[in-house]
Amino acid sequence: MSAYHLRIAQLYPEQMNIYGDRGNILALQQRCAWRNITTTLLPIGPGTHVDWLEIDLAFFGGGQDSGQALIAADFRERQAVGLRKAAESGMVLLSICGGYQLLGDYFLTHTGEKLPGVGLLDVYTIGSNRRMIGNIVIESALPDCPGKLVGFENHSGATYLGAGVQPLGRVLSGYGNNGEDGSEGAVWRNVFGCYMHGSLLPKNPHFADYLLTLALRRRYGSAVVLEPLDDTLELQAQRTMVERVL
Ligand code: GLN
Repeated sequence: MSAYHLRIAQLYPEQMNIYGDRGNILALQQRCAWRNITTTLLPIGPGTHVDWLEIDLAFFGGGQDSGQALIAADFRERQAVGLRKAAESGMVLLSICGGYQLLGDYFLTHTGEKLPGVGLLDVYTIGSNRRMIGNIVIESALPDCPGKLVGFENHSGATYLGAGVQPLGRVLSGYGNNGEDGSEGAVWRNVFGCYMHGSLLPKNPHFADYLLTLALRRRYGSAVVLEPLDDTLELQAQRTMVERVL
């Protein structure tokens, strides 16, 4: 019998799941399974009722502008209030690219359509004609999760950070939030946004474990420490990417 159980939610898996973003869920669940931590996965589609305080860790992947337009209103109207309450109580939320953009104040697409976000992260995004695409390596700015993070970005939206968030890290190679200020991603409490597809978590096991630790400590107390795993292959994949681009 496992001592721990984590409830994971995936926002709009049908509409918002590109460049293998679902790999993040698989990595989280597998890293739990290797440690005998049980998990359940709740897919949240349009119209789904969610008791957000029951959720330990949520994931919101990337999507095309058209996918974002399909779900933006449902997300705001149905999930924003509960999501904020859970986030204020320390729920972990990882968002990537299109999901990240909808956690901000708004996304103005390059065709001039304004998609309001839920304002959980103090960021806004402006679509452009420039596509920011390629491998990305950043140096994490998280004091409790230092080191490099590698991923793959593909976005035309440029995101700008307000005073209410910290960047996830500093770009060593690639574009990051906007290709201008050297920042990548945004963090507020345990809510993380970034442009790193990849999938991100399989290639960055220390970040996956950091998120799992945050989620477990919220549910079971600050004494929770994760058993280490043999990450030889994962770290080799990460190193290969770092050596290729830096
Ligand atoms: N549609 C958004 C953009 O291009 C997000 C793309 C994505 O999620 N990869 O900016």
